[in-house]
Amino acid sequence: MIVTGYQSANNMQRLKKLFLTFLLLLFCQQCFCWGFYGHRKINYLAVFLLPPEMLLLYKSNIEFISEHAVDPDKRRYAIAEEGPRHYIDIDQYGTYPYKELPRNYDSAVAKFGIDSINAHGIVPWWVQTMLQRLTKAFKEKNQAKILKLSAEIGHYIADAHVPLHASHNHNGQYSNQNGIHGFWESRVPELLADKEFDFWIGKAEYIKNPGQFIWARVLESAAAADTVLRYEKELTEQFPADQKYAFENRNGITTRVYSTSFTVAYNNKLQGMVERRMRQSIYAVASFWYTAWINAGQPDLKTLTNKEFTADELKEFEELNSNWKKGKVVGREHE
Ligand SMILES: [Zn+2]
Repeated sequence: MIVTGYQSANNMQRLKKLFLTFLLLLFCQQCFCWGFYGHRKINYLAVFLLPPEMLLLYKSNIEFISEHAVDPDKRRYAIAEEGPRHYIDIDQYGTYPYKELPRNYDSAVAKFGIDSINAHGIVPWWVQTMLQRLTKAFKEKNQAKILKLSAEIGHYIADAHVPLHASHNHNGQYSNQNGIHGFWESRVPELLADKEFDFWIGKAEYIKNPGQFIWARVLESAAAADTVLRYEKELTEQFPADQKYAFENRNGITTRVYSTSFTVAYNNKLQGMVERRMRQSIYAVASFWYTAWINAGQPDLKTLTNKEFTADELKEFEELNSNWKKGKVVGREHE
């Protein structure tokens, strides 16, 4: 076959475009909290902790609840306000247990100003806002809203359980540990959750004081962040340098990942921390759903209205996907 100069230039152009798309895909994979795998799994498993009256609705919509667990991450590609809802750099407010930071949102804004509060993240407050919205949706007996808000509150609750979501050094960027964010919350569960983690958890419980509950989880995350970082550093020093990373083929792309042996060694050193936080996330998500339903007066979920999503809601799902595929985060990067 004779290839003309024009054709080969064309081919080069195409190759270049393909390469850029791959790069973009690689970059995107690293931007998510708990990874898509973790968020979907947490919402999926939370369904089985619900009482029979709720299981009816949630189990028949389990695909939706799992699939849309990642919408809040996709929304970070659409609107700038989304980013801060996923984390809180609580170590920017003095020392543990960060008493300087009022747990009440209005008091915190009055003390530090809205810009500073937003810059350091708002996840414990946002979970409470979502709980109010979900409770209202139950009171209105609006099925579409119940499902959408359940999927999304699950995401924020799970994020609050991730230690590096409560640290300003969220991707090890200040300690030469870039990539540790995705390592802890994506690589470890993707490699080990199905094979080794125990997800027999029990059942959802009523949360008397949701604010106190979520702040307690955030403080646990903050307390664990140092260990997450320190153990990775210690292990790196002990581990043969050429065995820390491996190359894997993902969808036809060669990607550098933390090696299986390094991941297993890190998980062992953490003594089950990732599994524990994942289990606690599942329990918390189910308990928040259950609490919203109780606070709404335990509506009969067999007789709900608004079973179909509105045209606006369907449009939003589509836009979330297309913005996410374009791959540009609006506002601060997560990692
Ligand atoms: Zn997130």
